[in-house]
Amino acid sequence: MKPVGAQQQPLVLSLLLRIVLGWLLGGGLLLSAVSYAGQPISTHAVEVSELGDEPLSLTRHLAVLEDASLTLSLADVQAADIAGRFKYFPAEGAAMSFGFSHSAYWLRLRLHNSSEQPVERMLEVGSSLLSAVHGYLPQADGSYQVIRTGQAQPFATRAYKNRHFVFPIVLPAYSEYAYYLKIQSDDAIVVPVALWSPSAFHEYERNDYLAQAGYFGMAMAMVLFNLLLYIALRDVIHLWYVLFVASVLFALAALSGMAHEFLWPEAMRWSNSSVFVGFAISIAAILQFMRVMLETNMRMPRLDRLILLLVGIHLLLVIGLLAALPTFAIYAEVLNIATGLLLLTVIVHCAYRRQRSAYFFVAAFTTLLLAGFVVGLKDFGLLPSNILTENALQIGSAIEMLVLALALADRFNLIRQEKAEAQQGKLAAQEDLLEHLLNSERELEARVAQRTAELKLLNDKLEALSATDGLTGLANRRRFDEVLAIEWVRAERVGQSLALAVLDVDWFKTYNDHYGHQAGDECLRQVASVLVASICRTGDFVARYGGEEFVFIAPATDGASALKMARKVCEALQAKGLPHESSIFGCVTVSIGVAAVVPSEKFSAEDLLREADHALYQAKNNGRNQSVLARTNAE
Ligand code: GH3
Ligand code: MG
Ligand code: MG
Repeated sequence: MKPVGAQQQPLVLSLLLRIVLGWLLGGGLLLSAVSYAGQPISTHAVEVSELGDEPLSLTRHLAVLEDASLTLSLADVQAADIAGRFKYFPAEGAAMSFGFSHSAYWLRLRLHNSSEQPVERMLEVGSSLLSAVHGYLPQADGSYQVIRTGQAQPFATRAYKNRHFVFPIVLPAYSEYAYYLKIQSDDAIVVPVALWSPSAFHEYERNDYLAQAGYFGMAMAMVLFNLLLYIALRDVIHLWYVLFVASVLFALAALSGMAHEFLWPEAMRWSNSSVFVGFAISIAAILQFMRVMLETNMRMPRLDRLILLLVGIHLLLVIGLLAALPTFAIYAEVLNIATGLLLLTVIVHCAYRRQRSAYFFVAAFTTLLLAGFVVGLKDFGLLPSNILTENALQIGSAIEMLVLALALADRFNLIRQEKAEAQQGKLAAQEDLLEHLLNSERELEARVAQRTAELKLLNDKLEALSATDGLTGLANRRRFDEVLAIEWVRAERVGQSLALAVLDVDWFKTYNDHYGHQAGDECLRQVASVLVASICRTGDFVARYGGEEFVFIAPATDGASALKMARKVCEALQAKGLPHESSIFGCVTVSIGVAAVVPSEKFSAEDLLREADHALYQAKNNGRNQSVLARTNAE
């Protein structure tokens, strides 16, 4: 048999593991206690009549005997040789801890009642994870009432209905008895034993259940709320959150004994492993939650693969825990420490890189760390054991859930903001596009307008060209026809006389023959310029009719006036004195036939032209270099 306290190493390890695990998950295996020697130990019986409202921690008053063979009976441990081997637990604080052990531990407690009244007390083993807790309660006749209960037993075996193992005891007046507890567990054995007055215990119990109910109610609300959020938003992160909170809830329900009392009072096979299973699932869920929240797959792909591997390992661990709890429990705790350190590294790294959601994780896990410290300090006896310190983990876990929910809300907000910005960007891009399109349209319009203007200019030019005689720059025959038609209609409308004259250069053939064709051309240009200079009234129109023949139209002009104009031309040309040796006049001259008429139905423009031509013929016949006015039929 090993002396008590020999398991110092596993204990410290276990404590560390528990603190980190509890810190990370709010899962409280932090009923951790520590053993340290050197404290004064009471060897006397506890005087029960003097107990006040505060519970009395019995750590210092319990003598412990380890039964590694699991064979000892009550009679055996009472027998003088073995009874002498009981040792007092060398520690102060709220709990005794024996680490992972397959041994049974016998705890002996001497209670003394020096009063004249019988005294009722509640002996509380403040844990719910112990597989077996056997109470040996002495009776007045010297016999022992044996109560065999524990987590592995149906809840009905309990002497008193509480999530912990509670034994109501009565000490007759002036009596002293030795009480025995035999404890065994698959899990690490942590035994906080306390003695209560019934009234104080009932008071504590009410508050304790209220706190438990408050915690579970809140956690359940978070589960349901986020489940609804998942249904509404289809964002898988809510599902991970739900799985995380639900599994922590499950683990804490098992850990606190609430599950055994209310969910599986018949103590199913897996009630022992439920805490570990719950935590393993919750770790897998929180890892997944973190992966999504911190976008590790994008920001740190290599670490992300490691996290994913851990998720898989934790899920495999669940199978192992269900199959063989004691074997896998220690692996689970080692794995948890590794996971905890990795989680911490990732969170701190992300926070260092100013990743906003990492701050929430830091806040959440700091809360749990504080809760872990509170529980630790309470177990060391540095903080009083009360509803707050007793339930520090539940409180820490509740705050953690709230902070993570806040992180979800913040993430939702960020996503919405990003969406709004993207929308804004899209809108701006659309506006840009529209602006661009409008600009292009305007540009196109401007270009079309420019082209149209150019085209018009070109057209005008072409038109002018098509209406112009190339040699003299005067209007050509085509243009003359148009103008005559227009003027004809106008004169007809206003009932005015329209005059028309046809000019023909005299003996031009011989001019050509004598001076050459080019000189002939030049001569034609000179004749044109004289014609233009002489017919200068606004509205009058001059054209080259073809060959060496010219015409002019004079609107609102009668025959006499037109004849005058023609004569003026003849004179001007003669005055110009362009030499023409073959001419009898010695210079270039023209003959002009003039006709004028007020347009009417009986008389057409063609008739007028014919009349003028006829007059020209007369002018030629009369000896040339003269103007003849036709006597039109219309007159
Ligand atoms: P008339 O006094 O009877 O009019 O005698 P004419 O020599 O002028 O006779 P006609 O009208 O038959 O001859 C016209 C001549 O004008 C014939 C042609 O060589 C010449 N001619 C016609 N067009 C041009 C032209 O563009 N340039 C030149 N240089 N000569 C032209
Ligand atoms: Mg001619
Ligand atoms: Mg001629």
